Order: sequence, then C-alpha cells, then structure tokens
Amino acid sequence: MLLQTIYNQWCSPELHLNEVVTEIDYSGDKILVKTSKTTYRTNKLFVGVPLGTLKARTISFNPPLPSDKQAAINTIGVGNFEKLFVSFNRAFWPAGSSTLHFVGQGKLARYVEGWVLPNTLGLNVLVFFVSGQDARTIINWSAEEIKNDLLFFLSSYTS
Ligand SMILES: Cc1cc2nc3c(=O)[nH]c(=O)nc-3n(C[C@H](O)[C@H](O)[C@H](O)COP(=O)(O)OP(=O)(O)OC[C@H]3O[C@@H](n4cnc5c(N)ncnc54)[C@H](O)[C@@H]3O)c2cc1C
Repeated sequence: MLLQTIYNQWCSPELHLNEVVTEIDYSGDKILVKTSKTTYRTNKLFVGVPLGTLKARTISFNPPLPSDKQAAINTIGVGNFEKLFVSFNRAFWPAGSSTLHFVGQGKLARYVEGWVLPNTLGLNVLVFFVSGQDARTIINWSAEEIKNDLLFFLSSYTS
C-alpha cells in the first residue's frame, strides 16, 4: 500500500543500482542525493537504509538530522543474525517435526534451533539461526568450515 502510493504519486520508475549514497543535502529547495557516481535532485525523499548504516554515519546529512532522531539512532541497538539453509541427504529428525531446539552452552549453543522446511522439492532442509558473536564469527567462515562446525554440533546432540 505504502509502496503503491509512493509509486503512483511520486515516482517515475527509475532504479539505480550499485551506487553508494554518501550525502543527502536537504538544505535547499531541492533535495540533493550524492552518490558514488552522481548527484540526484528530488522534491521528496524516503530514506530506507538500515539502522546500522545510520549508526556508522556513512551518509552525511546536511543539515544534520534533528537531535531526537540522532538520539534514537544512537540509542537503539542493532544485533547480528544469520540464517543457514542446510540440505541433508536424509531427514534425521522425527517425522512431523516443525522445529528442533538445542539447549547447550558455549559452542553447543551456537545453532539455537533448526526449522524444518516442508519437503516440497524433495529436499531435507533445516534452517538454523545464529546470532550475536557467533553470527560475527561464522560470517567469516567458508561453507566448508560452517559445515564441519555444524556437523560437530549436531553429532554432539545425536550421538
Ligand atoms: C539473516 C536475516 C534473516 C531475516 N529473515 C527474515 C524473514 O524470514 N522474514 C522477514 O519478514 N524478515 C526477515 N528479516 C528481516 C528483513 O530482512 C528486514 O526487516 C528487511 O530486509 C528490511 O528491509 P529494508 O528495506 O528496511 O532494509 P534492507 O533490506 O536492509 O535494505 C536496505 C538497503 O539499503 C542499502 N544501503 C545501505 N546503505 C546504503 C548507502 N549508503 N547507499 C546506498 N544503499 C545503501 C543496502 O545495501 C540495502 O540494500 C531477516 C533479516 C536478517 C538479517
């Protein structure tokens, strides 16, 4: 609904990809959006970058954002979260399961739970959730490293 309204009222359908916005200047009549490639001029602007981008101040605003907005950006926390979709040769979980919960400490708490995806494509897929420091850790691992860690994790629960 919101997107439809924006599209109908304000948009000429233009999409610009692979351009990093570096500055938003809304001090004049027109809003200037400066990117790594060019500068766009517009009457209205909706900024939809993630909170983390605002916290890192990778976009400079002129004039600076109002102090209440800056206080909100500084105060609200942002965490790390990763989803892993893992396909197994066979379903080792009980038939009819929807979620597997793992209760452990340290490394044995890394993959908190596994959602069982419906087997519509003939695949046995679990979706694992990793958050916090563990998410920061595994994002730097190769697929092979993640696979080995996950197999170690699962073997400690299934053996
Ligand atoms: C691992 C994970 C799993 C999730 N799973 C689900 C799910 O199953 N269901 C669900 O409903 N939600 C899920 N979410 C949440 C969902 O992804 C977000 O709520 C949603 O993507 C937010 O959309 P958005 O458009 O606000 O931000 P984003 O999707 O983050 O889009 C913001 C865009 O801004 C771009 N950007 C940032 N800085 C700049 C810049 N300086 N210049 C230009 N572009 C910039 C980014 O590249 C990005 O493309 C998940 C989130 C994560 C992290």
